Amino acid sequence: MTEFAPSSTTQKHPWPDARGRYGAFGGRFVPETLMYALDELERAYESAREDAAFQETLHTYRQDYVGRPTPLYFAARFTEALGGAKVYFKREDLAHTGAHKINNALGQCLLAKRMGKTRIIAETGAGQHGVATATASALLGLKCVVYMGAEDIERQKLNVFRMRLLGSEVVTVESGSKTLKDAINEALRDWVAHVEDTHYVLGTVHGPHPFPMICRDFQSVIGREARKQIFEKEGRLPDTLIACVGGGSNAVGLFYEFIGDESVRMIGVEAGGTAIKPGEHAARFDGGAYGMLHGAISYVLQDEYGQIGSTHSVSAGLDYASVGPEHAYFHDSGRVEYTHVSDDEALDGFQRCSELEGIIPALESAHAIAHAMKVVPAMNKDRIVIVNMSGRGDKDVQQAARFILPDEDWSGGAKA
Ligand SMILES: *Cc1c(COP(=O)(O)O)cnc(C)c1O
Repeated sequence: MTEFAPSSTTQKHPWPDARGRYGAFGGRFVPETLMYALDELERAYESAREDAAFQETLHTYRQDYVGRPTPLYFAARFTEALGGAKVYFKREDLAHTGAHKINNALGQCLLAKRMGKTRIIAETGAGQHGVATATASALLGLKCVVYMGAEDIERQKLNVFRMRLLGSEVVTVESGSKTLKDAINEALRDWVAHVEDTHYVLGTVHGPHPFPMICRDFQSVIGREARKQIFEKEGRLPDTLIACVGGGSNAVGLFYEFIGDESVRMIGVEAGGTAIKPGEHAARFDGGAYGMLHGAISYVLQDEYGQIGSTHSVSAGLDYASVGPEHAYFHDSGRVEYTHVSDDEALDGFQRCSELEGIIPALESAHAIAHAMKVVPAMNKDRIVIVNMSGRGDKDVQQAARFILPDEDWSGGAKA
């Protein structure tokens, strides 16, 4: 067996540059009042990154609380059914709270504590990042306030209850479209007003520098583990990595450690929704253009006047008008390929994975699975594919039921 070969990606830190740019993307486009907070955060993060005691604390919580390393699982029946490459799942669905989001929430809350902050704020759309942040805040004894659009609160009552159960306050956002992007605006406003005692835990690899870098670094534990695990199991690098892309944190988390390995093909899968037409999807690399949202330059779904476009996906976690700036950079440089799958294809992946493997995937992860179902059959049997199972699907069964069996009444349990 070949010895485990360490990657050099993380030692080089070639990007972002000093201004937080990834090529033409990224940066820090915020009001002057936030510059102080972002500078302070950047300095604190750089010092924590080099601090062995901080890394040790993070490692211990990852192991004993989150349940890391998560397994790299050989999906034998899924592989057999597709009849091509060997497919492995990186099991982020087995992390505490059921998805990769805890990796970032835990890291940022520990960082906040190290900075002497006592109060945490976060934005959330479907509630997954809110729950992860409420969890990490409870763990570390931090006060937590989560901003959530009124529309989303209505749709996600159980997650709102979860956050309150975990001791967090959930603030209803009534402005704009009353969804995620309005919640982000409110959270940024709160941060400006309370920066002395408050840290803002941003949920994905987006927003002003240094957030995309910090979130990427905390999520890159996924790829570091996967790289070690595939060497242990197969004695070599994988041929292809596949991950779904909302903001892009689980994808870059898996990809980052392999970026320097030229033989490894990487595919990011966006939400194709019902059609690639305005308002019907969230495939930023197919319908989007160079633009700015939430303090960073990236690909953005927008109209001809630069107004942010509306989006749709069967999966709430992929339903965002922009994508992390590092992905925009990977896209333009050609290092990562981006594609999209439709709602129907994702639902098919959701069912096939459940039947064949006894794993109900999150609808987000089902996008990555659906793309694997397209490309794996044409690959040689000696090839190796890793699909990032970003989360478990318990949260999505009701939504899926509505789409798969639309004629039945699914109003029992949580309200629609
Ligand atoms: C939030 C979420 C995503 C999308 O977010 P990324 O930042 O793109 O990873 C994907 N999968 C699951 C399970 C999620 O909860």
